[in-house]
Amino acid sequence: MAKISINIASGSIEKKKVIVGIDLGTTNSLVAFVPKGDENAQIIPVRGNNIVPSVIHFDVHNIPAVGAFAKDKLLGDPERTIYSVKRLLGKNYKDIPQDNVNLGYRIIDDQSDNLVKVQVGAKFYNPIELSAEILKELKEQAQKTLNADVEQAVITVPAYFNESQRQATRDAGKLAGLDVLRIINEPTAASLAYGIQTQSNGHILVYDFGGGTFDVSILQIEDGVFEVLSTHGDTYLGGDDIDKAIVDYWQNKAREANFELDDFSILRHHAESAKIQLSNDPKTVFEYKINSDFNLLLDYKTLVSIAEPILEKTWNSVNRALNDAQLKHTDIHEVVLVGGSTRLPIIAEKLNNWFNQSRINNQINPDEVVALGAAIEADVLAGNRTDVLLLDVTPLSLGIETAGGLMDVLIPRNSKIPQRVGREYTTSVDGQINLKVAVFQGERELVEQNRKLGEFVLKDIPSMPAGMPKIEIQFALNADGMLQVQAKELRSGVSQKVEIQPSYGLTDAEVEQMLMAGLANAQSDVEERLLRESQNEARQIIYTTERFIDKNANLLSEDEKLGTEQRIEAVRGLLDGSDRHQLQAKIEELNDFSRPFAERLMDVAVSKALKGNRIDQMK
Ligand code: ADP
Ligand code: MG
Repeated sequence: MAKISINIASGSIEKKKVIVGIDLGTTNSLVAFVPKGDENAQIIPVRGNNIVPSVIHFDVHNIPAVGAFAKDKLLGDPERTIYSVKRLLGKNYKDIPQDNVNLGYRIIDDQSDNLVKVQVGAKFYNPIELSAEILKELKEQAQKTLNADVEQAVITVPAYFNESQRQATRDAGKLAGLDVLRIINEPTAASLAYGIQTQSNGHILVYDFGGGTFDVSILQIEDGVFEVLSTHGDTYLGGDDIDKAIVDYWQNKAREANFELDDFSILRHHAESAKIQLSNDPKTVFEYKINSDFNLLLDYKTLVSIAEPILEKTWNSVNRALNDAQLKHTDIHEVVLVGGSTRLPIIAEKLNNWFNQSRINNQINPDEVVALGAAIEADVLAGNRTDVLLLDVTPLSLGIETAGGLMDVLIPRNSKIPQRVGREYTTSVDGQINLKVAVFQGERELVEQNRKLGEFVLKDIPSMPAGMPKIEIQFALNADGMLQVQAKELRSGVSQKVEIQPSYGLTDAEVEQMLMAGLANAQSDVEERLLRESQNEARQIIYTTERFIDKNANLLSEDEKLGTEQRIEAVRGLLDGSDRHQLQAKIEELNDFSRPFAERLMDVAVSKALKGNRIDQMK
């Protein structure tokens, strides 16, 4: 398969370059490509296997090993063996549901908004670095297998991944030395793998039930064009949960027999073996001997009842996706099964009954179909096919914070991407010159319940009465699901643009010094906030004092007016600086100077008011 080309001009041997498709799975990862001149994708074997367990083991010197070798260490060396890292990707500790903290290894709660960290011996790793280890293994081994350079890739993510999880995946690729051409949704990739062969127009439902995530997506194919109509899912639902439910079941059985089963890792391993044995051969009974008095048992019927509450959630998602796409189940022509967990016979049975007019597609290996689709997308991007076009959809609404902490949605969930939307806003305070634009993602009314993606300040809006400025906020969501936000005051043309970085705020340069940078930013963020608060206070006091002097000019001495003006200028001079202590001191000076005559005039105003005149409000 390997080919070598020779550059005639230089006489040197050139390795060919291959763009790969990568399924970076929670449980297993795969890499695939489309050979030149071919149109079918193939899995690239890694150390002789198509499937690479997404597991990383660190030896005592913290040298990483990825894949089957690492998976074998789950039992013997769980504290140094990291699995399901995709579940931690782009997340803070507080984002992680409690029952998912029950891993064999240590994740660190540093009581902050920073990235989750994993502790291995004396070292700390974040999920981006860990995912990069998996990608590095795929890249390097693919290069060996193909005897080609692998520098560019398409990487898939669950449809329900949010912006920061997508960005984290991109960063992991970069860290592994890959130019990530595109991030695409796993169900989209799977349908692409099947869609090539699909001649007819119609609706496809992709049911992807893997080890750690569940997605259902509804796609439309029309004249070779794929369009995602809706997606629904749960990034915390997968075959792992079935394994855990089996462990719970066994632990209950053991407790009834006055037995203590405590090694979670070993039990998990056997639970998965039981599940796979029974789904391949439902007539057998799984048996694991603990000792002469006690056996762990499982049969298919029990397995199905244990899995039922988990499967129920997937059926609910199917209904929600159908609703979002405004389709009935009879509108679905094809059902595509993706993910190792769809090998449980009950799943195809259920979908067969439910969608009995549709074709159930499970001919392509459910473990491989996503990587194969990613490779086809890579081939499209390489310019090797013109027959396919991909339209994607955004799974969560995107919007900004407006007065009162309300979420104002600019791009609703399930909008097609790429997408560009603009909306006009204005100020609520006279002379407002700064406007904070805070960007959120989610479906709740209050921004505090949604996920904050980032914020920036539109500065130097010319001072105008409240309601006068016309501020246009524009959201541009590109084909990768990355968001660009622009704010522009239309009367003056003042504008500012940002590429939204997820809340952990990684820039390219920071990818290298990830951990420390996170901590350093947290500190400077606090400093920045304190400085802003002082600046706001300074602006407020300049505003009110100047108004006060204007209104009462004839009641003040020249010294009072001049002295006040000088002190206002001193505050103003520091307004754009970065020393908040100095600014605060000047604010105090101004306050101290104006207080005595302000109080004197207040008394006059109050006595006037008592005679029936209006008090000028001092605000
Ligand atoms: P991911 O996309 O999360 O990496 P995969 O698609 O590789 O996951 O699926 C892994 C899951 O499939 C695991 O939970 C594994 O136990 C499960 N699995 C693999 N084979 C079978 C089988 N024959 N029956 C049931 N579950 C299976
Ligand atoms: Mg998968």
